Amino acid sequence: MDQQDRLMQEIEARREDLTALCQDLIRIPTLNPPGDNYRAICEFLERRLTKSGFECEFIRAHGAKGDSDKYPRWNLVARREGAHPGDCVHFNSHTDVVEVGRGWTTDPFGGEVKDGKVYGRGACDMKGGLAASIVAAEAFIAVCPDYAGAIEISGTADEESGGFGGVAYLAEQGYFSPQRVQHVIIPEPLNKDRICLGHRGVWWAEIETYGEIAHGSMPFLGDCAVRHMGAVVHEMEETLFPALALKRTDMPVVPEGAKQSTMNINSIHGGENEQEADYTGLPSPCVPDSCRMVIDRRFLIEENIDDVQAEIHAVLQAVKDRRATFSYDVRELQRVLPSMTEKSAPVVQTVARAITRVMGTDPQYVVSPGTYDQKHIDRIGRLQNCIAYGPGILDLAHKPDEYVGIQDMVDSAKVMASGLLDLLGPPAAAS
Ligand SMILES: [Zn+2]
Repeated sequence: MDQQDRLMQEIEARREDLTALCQDLIRIPTLNPPGDNYRAICEFLERRLTKSGFECEFIRAHGAKGDSDKYPRWNLVARREGAHPGDCVHFNSHTDVVEVGRGWTTDPFGGEVKDGKVYGRGACDMKGGLAASIVAAEAFIAVCPDYAGAIEISGTADEESGGFGGVAYLAEQGYFSPQRVQHVIIPEPLNKDRICLGHRGVWWAEIETYGEIAHGSMPFLGDCAVRHMGAVVHEMEETLFPALALKRTDMPVVPEGAKQSTMNINSIHGGENEQEADYTGLPSPCVPDSCRMVIDRRFLIEENIDDVQAEIHAVLQAVKDRRATFSYDVRELQRVLPSMTEKSAPVVQTVARAITRVMGTDPQYVVSPGTYDQKHIDRIGRLQNCIAYGPGILDLAHKPDEYVGIQDMVDSAKVMASGLLDLLGPPAAAS
């Protein structure tokens, strides 16, 4: 029996172990915000990976956005050297999960198994992927103990809130430098037969319109900032949204609706603050002197961020031309440039071959509508050989009754292990 067949058998034999590992990870409630139990999940991973021969390093993102003594941003990087020089393959998973929300019929932190699925917050996004990568690495080590290069597995904080206390911090410290790591696989839930090459860009900004406060019974003595903002929304509806709908990308973005430029109006706040729920009085009559809108603009690799900003300024200028007292500010909150790994990159080619080998189908290449930690590996780490590949259905992420299929975890672990054999195994072992 060749090594590829032995590897597949090893993973089949670890089906129960993989399921239990995913359950255990779900049972550590790593809610973000605020960033609970990061240390605990790193310690859990350290116990597991030390047994498999990994050297583990705890890294706290001191001073990063979100890090505090109450909620320290702990990350774990585990590395296992092979027997000969060679490339390093890094599996990066975020350990944080988003809030539970309403509508669950299972315990969100119970890790319940039902009908071949493991349920819980983070099951697909992305503790199932983390478990699959660990079992893939362990099975590969068992079959091929004298492999070349090195394997790294990291569990990182804060992906759901931008990744600044996680991958961005590690990238700044050199953990993703091309000298140290050559291939990165992020097991986000993109479906087991799809390779995610990257993501669209993001520009978040806050627009504020100004007015003048006055008594609400004499609004003509003031200037209503909310009406100014209404004119901005109207202008966006008339000119901006139709223009965005016409911009189409050649990036293979899924779902179909995200193949165009999009913008979400995230929030609008104008006038007096809302009172606590137990406040029984009425509002006071005031003309609002400020209104703020947060926009979330997602842009394509064919677009330039300067043009994205210029479009918003053009909307505001058009309003200003019509309204004598209109004044505004635009403040950038966040920017992320689009990222897309070439299809010819070694990690893409390797995982594509592994998918064909394990599942007998050709992989589908996709690009994510939203960003994930690839942005930091690409922009800060300067490593372009990076993809997202992992088990689970993307649409279930952040939903009630989130689950990951056990068969999906097993299949994607086989693909990851087969990829390791290709990249780090003896020459031609994976054929
Ligand atoms: Zn995720």
